[in-house]
Amino acid sequence: MDIASAQERLATVREGIARAARLARREREEITLIAVSKTQDADAIRPLLEGGHRVFGENRVQEAADKWPPLKAEFPDVRLHLIGQLQSNKAGQAAGLFDTVHSVDRPSLVEALARTGRSAECFLQVNLAEEAQKGGCPPGDLPDLLNQARNAGLPVLGLMCIPPDGIEPAPWFALLAELGRRHGVAGLSMGMSGDYETAVMLGATHVRVGAALFGARPV
Ligand SMILES: *Cc1c(COP(=O)(O)O)cnc(C)c1O
Repeated sequence: MDIASAQERLATVREGIARAARLARREREEITLIAVSKTQDADAIRPLLEGGHRVFGENRVQEAADKWPPLKAEFPDVRLHLIGQLQSNKAGQAAGLFDTVHSVDRPSLVEALARTGRSAECFLQVNLAEEAQKGGCPPGDLPDLLNQARNAGLPVLGLMCIPPDGIEPAPWFALLAELGRRHGVAGLSMGMSGDYETAVMLGATHVRVGAALFGARPV
């Protein structure tokens, strides 16, 4: 992708977030745009870095380990978020690479992250619709998982969800926000390319946007 179009897409998404924040009477600064760069190579990522963007999301530990160290050497203030499922045996590697992990969803992973001794910031992923194929803890398990993470000393920023495909996401965003209020966590990681403005209007503090910034991913 050429630099102009990447930077134009960045400007468009930033404007969309600002518009939704304004409509919801929220401060723009409350919302972090995570540019989801999974499957994108360094050449595709670089225009966003040169456009001043610094917060990126990846869904695989190994891909991030291959791709990001040279880019981080050039742009040391980059912040990386892991948004994909994490195996407990990769917790150490993940905690070394990522500033924030959005997919904390089970006791064994909380333990593994705590054992790394690094305090990566965490979002607890909630599988709101209890879909079998998706990560995330069932809503009923959230109170215990949250207690466990807090007791283990993990900095819990908030809750994360990926709503079911193909249906209106707003009710799920509202439900995640309600769970956040109920459990006293401020952060809400929700909203992707097709629905980040809706998510911001419903309280998202972190939106995870890939295709709207990089173009459609090759299948
Ligand atoms: C890929 C991915 C995104 C970004 O999706 P787009 O539709 O490309 O914006 C967001 N969140 C998660 C967990 C993802 O895996």
